[in-house]
Amino acid sequence: MGAKKSNRSEVSDKFTLFPDYIKVESKSGNEYTITLERCTCRGFGFHKTCRHYEQAESAGLIEKLKAKEQEELHFKHSKSTIEIRKDAIRQYLTKNNASFTEPIIDKIESILTSSTTPQEVLSMATLSVSHDIV
Ligand SMILES: [Zn+2]
Repeated sequence: MGAKKSNRSEVSDKFTLFPDYIKVESKSGNEYTITLERCTCRGFGFHKTCRHYEQAESAGLIEKLKAKEQEELHFKHSKSTIEIRKDAIRQYLTKNNASFTEPIIDKIESILTSSTTPQEVLSMATLSVSHDIV
């Protein structure tokens, strides 16, 4: 009567989210890797989708992977972020009557971290200028 599936194995596929892929430890003991485009299992090769991919998708993991990838891309390749930082440095130096050249701005931008203080920026510029002039 009532179709019970109680004897179906309790083991299920295990998913682990990494920054740019999802690791699948399948219940059959194999290990696969899911990226945004595909799963490395053989089934995916045939059907262009598979149990792992579908499960990862319905668990929201593919979405998370996508979000992480976009975050990453945004962070690494966002030229505008770099330009904004450079502008801020230029403005800051101008405001403080520090002389600077574009290579100095580039250099400061590349070593700037969130813990760099404005004073450090200023002294970096001052030091660079005096070195470059000599
Ligand atoms: Zn798969």
